[in-house]
Amino acid sequence: MIEFQSVSKQYCAHAVALRDVSFNVAKGELVYLAGPSGAGKSTLLKMIAAIERPTGGAVLVNGQDIGKLGKAGVPFLRRNLGLIFQQQKLLNDRSILANTMLPLLVTGAARAEAERRARAALDKVGLLDRARALPLELSGGEQQRVAIARAIVNRPQIILADEPTANLDRASADKVLDALRAFHSVGVTCMISTHDELMLEREVDARVIHLDHGQLVQPAQVAP
Ligand code: ADP
Ligand code: ADP
Repeated sequence: MIEFQSVSKQYCAHAVALRDVSFNVAKGELVYLAGPSGAGKSTLLKMIAAIERPTGGAVLVNGQDIGKLGKAGVPFLRRNLGLIFQQQKLLNDRSILANTMLPLLVTGAARAEAERRARAALDKVGLLDRARALPLELSGGEQQRVAIARAIVNRPQIILADEPTANLDRASADKVLDALRAFHSVGVTCMISTHDELMLEREVDARVIHLDHGQLVQPAQVAP
């Protein structure tokens, strides 16, 4: 479903964010992307969404080469992606429900149908009872779960979450991960980045892709 073929990304002469990265993610897989700050995690996720383009190699999503995607192709690609990125903030002057309905209204859904589906999405992340609250009345972890509801309300095939547990305490982080895992369990392909290796300790069965200085680190090289 997601394929990186010797992908490199050089922002400028002195900023090489990814070097020769190759991996595959199958449909329905849950993959964690681990590595310290600056390792290239955001860059890698942005390339799947065509927010950044590779400077070498190819990124394929559903067999389609993202680097060759024209302007008209980008909205089609993103319709299949649920993006949870730090820069995509909630609108603080609108309710949780209104925030969650937004992606549906933008793609032309009727209001009543949008509200029904947004409520279903909020229910899935455990926040239906806060539907009328404003974002700033919620904790950081709850806001992050609203961001997940908003990202999945269009029923995307793939969820990309960039450091969704950053700045959260352990209990809130676990709830955010539980919400993401719930969508994985119904067949959604998930990639979740983190700089917190401790968070992955309990994910014993999970597939983890390790990045460091823009390169994949093979499991044998990861310090115990
Ligand atoms: P991570 O998400 O693992 O923290 P990033 O993908 O954000 O890593 O960054 C990888 C490297 O690319 C860093 O050295 C960063 O400074 C650089 N970088 C990221 N975005 C840009 C940009 N827009 N322009 C120049 N350099 C960038
Ligand atoms: P619908 O009648 O639209 O299918 P549901 O009550 O089944 O509504 O809840 C579906 C909600 O769950 C959607 O609005 C969406 O937010 C979210 N969702 C996203 N992806 C999936 C999926 N693969 N399976 C089930 N629900 C999903």
